[in-house]
Amino acid sequence: MLNIGCHLSASKGYLNMAKTAESIDANTFAFFTRNPRGGAAKNIDENDVKEFLEFTERNNFATLVAHAPYTLNACSDKPETREFALNTMRDDLMRMEYTPNQYYNFHPGSHMKQGADAGIEMIAKQLNEVLTEDMTTTVLLETMAGKGSEVGRSFEELKQIINMVKLNEKLGVCFDTCHVYDAGYNIVEDLDGVLDEFDRIIGIDRLKAIHMNDSKNPFESHKDRHEKIGEGSIGFDTMVNIINHPKLQDIPIILETPNELDGYAHEIKMLRNAYKKQ
Ligand code: FE
Ligand code: FE
Ligand code: ZN
Repeated sequence: MLNIGCHLSASKGYLNMAKTAESIDANTFAFFTRNPRGGAAKNIDENDVKEFLEFTERNNFATLVAHAPYTLNACSDKPETREFALNTMRDDLMRMEYTPNQYYNFHPGSHMKQGADAGIEMIAKQLNEVLTEDMTTTVLLETMAGKGSEVGRSFEELKQIINMVKLNEKLGVCFDTCHVYDAGYNIVEDLDGVLDEFDRIIGIDRLKAIHMNDSKNPFESHKDRHEKIGEGSIGFDTMVNIINHPKLQDIPIILETPNELDGYAHEIKMLRNAYKKQ
């Protein structure tokens, strides 16, 4: 089954996002848990959550992929920035339990010239502080383009983080097509090879969600600039290969392309039309 959706604004609440998704033939979506720059989170409206849960169940929604604010940096060189990342993630994970069993995706961080190994250790330390035995959320580490000092530019770096986390059954990976191509994994020429490598290093069972974005820049440019599906250097054929790949069935696919709602509706339609029932 093709589970596909896009990034939506959370400003009007959960039910509104689900209805918006449904209106463009999406059956999953992503949203920022709070202002992407990391301000205070809105209060949870329990009635909105209840209606949302009923609506998504009735309409067979797949797992949602919430996104942490992209300013969180668990491996900053500034203690107060690390503290902010820790407290924000802990608060987000508590709030996520109002909508149980979803995904919470975050950018591992930027090590700010402290070195990838130091960064990896700090990210794992934060995860060890916020993950709890009884939480139902799975936390996803996003594959990164390797811009600046980003950690998570290789499958090895993500695996190192996972290895250092005690409750790592609570962890998965979100595979961002623009980022991996930018990082130097050639999903255009050799998708099978990249997925085999992912399986060998991390384990394909950890691949829980896909961010589907084309790229404005050529292979391996480490720039992280998303493009509309089929209009960038990755191209439509590779996206079709991804949605139809036997190892990537049923996982939620989120578009983060530079679009308004009608553009997302168009991309979802194109991809649904290109999906071959497995
Ligand atoms: Fe992201
Ligand atoms: Fe992404
Ligand atoms: Zn990106």
